[in-house]
Amino acid sequence: MGALHAGHGTVIRSASLMGPVLVSVFVNPLQFGPNEDLDQYPRSLESDLVLAERWGAAALWAPSIEQIYPHGLESHPPRLQVPLALQEHLCGAMRPGHFDGVVAVVARLLDLVRPRQLWLGEKDWQQLVILRWLVAHLALPVTVQGVATVREADGLALSSRNQYLSADQRRMAAALPRALSAALGAGFDPVPSIRRTLCDAGFDVEYVQRVDPCTLQPCGHGKAISLLAAAVCCGSTRLIDHAFLMTRQPLVAIDGPAGAGKSTVTRAFAERLGLVYLDTGAMYRSVTWLVQQRGVDPSDGGAIEPLLNALDVQLQSLPGGVQQVLVNGEDVSTAIRSPDVTASVSAVAAHRCVRQALTVQQKAMGSKGGLVAEGRDIGTAVFPDADLKVFLTATVAERARRRALDLEQRGFVVPERAELEAQIAERDRLDSTREEAPLMQADDAIELVTDGMDIDAVIEALVRLFRERVAEEAWPTPQR
Ligand code: C5P
Repeated sequence: MGALHAGHGTVIRSASLMGPVLVSVFVNPLQFGPNEDLDQYPRSLESDLVLAERWGAAALWAPSIEQIYPHGLESHPPRLQVPLALQEHLCGAMRPGHFDGVVAVVARLLDLVRPRQLWLGEKDWQQLVILRWLVAHLALPVTVQGVATVREADGLALSSRNQYLSADQRRMAAALPRALSAALGAGFDPVPSIRRTLCDAGFDVEYVQRVDPCTLQPCGHGKAISLLAAAVCCGSTRLIDHAFLMTRQPLVAIDGPAGAGKSTVTRAFAERLGLVYLDTGAMYRSVTWLVQQRGVDPSDGGAIEPLLNALDVQLQSLPGGVQQVLVNGEDVSTAIRSPDVTASVSAVAAHRCVRQALTVQQKAMGSKGGLVAEGRDIGTAVFPDADLKVFLTATVAERARRRALDLEQRGFVVPERAELEAQIAERDRLDSTREEAPLMQADDAIELVTDGMDIDAVIEALVRLFRERVAEEAWPTPQR
């Protein structure tokens, strides 16, 4: 809506690294309520033009109301209805019709401009969630990018409305971010104490709420990453802000059947987001390798159990995305990918003693978060509280095609396609019918069928799903 400040500057600068940026400046009447500040809202097109150019925008577009709503404000079609669940809390509850107005204007802007990406600040987190819904709902070929909130030195989030504040109010306003960040170390339910602090500081408190960042539904301490959001009036100026409460760093679970390309995309995804990559399949393969080395029958759980006590599996990421696997100090990175190991791993992985031993190790590795784990039972048995769970799959034919390529690249003999398909189907059957932690999609996992998608497209989809749940502000993307 213009009145550009350094927060917009960061959005424009970040976007301009990806391609030419069009900045739209439009104070949208449809998103203001009858008693809100539409008439007073700061308008400064001349300086917006100078700033947008300085920050790297290719163009600034300031359409008239008639251009955006040619049929008039009242009869603007089509009226998109934002799902109630996304607007029944936070600002949506306080500003009836506000998000319908936001969605109406952004749908129109996207239709007129047809951009590849839509860049927004994370400060208005509920708006960001709702606009992500809009893009998915209309199936628009646009990716939504959020940018971390920019703050003044005293913590106040930049906002065009900050210019309404008197000098005294401006000093007082810093108590809002202070109250929210003080809560980050607080105990079980920080909401009542934040509310008290804000009232004591002299604000009229509209709401303080803790919600799931993705669904915007109220949540408690069981949710590892939650959004603590508040709206207050400082005099007659409405201020909103939030903080992300994190009981640990982010955890991502990627499960799926053999040959769905999980390893490649998970490794790249982990690197993109600065998360540690844990390939649990390599751990089951390591046990299988040891079982074969010792001449133990893969179906004999009783004979395998003693081997587990003396097992030390180390996974190390080497530069260039190479993963090194050491079993009791020996480098088995290549050996565990052999067709022999592959043929026996499902039998070995089905034993309760094997699963228990490896699950304990995996849970310990992920106890502080900061990890993407890939396997068969991560979202169901290992990390049921993961922030994002994806079930990555593809048809058997597609997986056999990829497996053939992979074997060829690794220098192994490539079986006939029909035989490969049969092997994959059999491994699916064994993995999903075993008693202990069978391969299955967790109730809250998102299924991603990757037939027809190239590796980059799958990685992009994973990043998008992650960012719907974990803000830049909570877990910044490392600079490459
Ligand atoms: O992913 P990858 O093909 O390396 O996994 C090898 C095998 O290890 C799987 O087919 C499955 O039998 C077993 N596994 C498992 N649980 C995991 C990961 C792998 O049972 N979390």
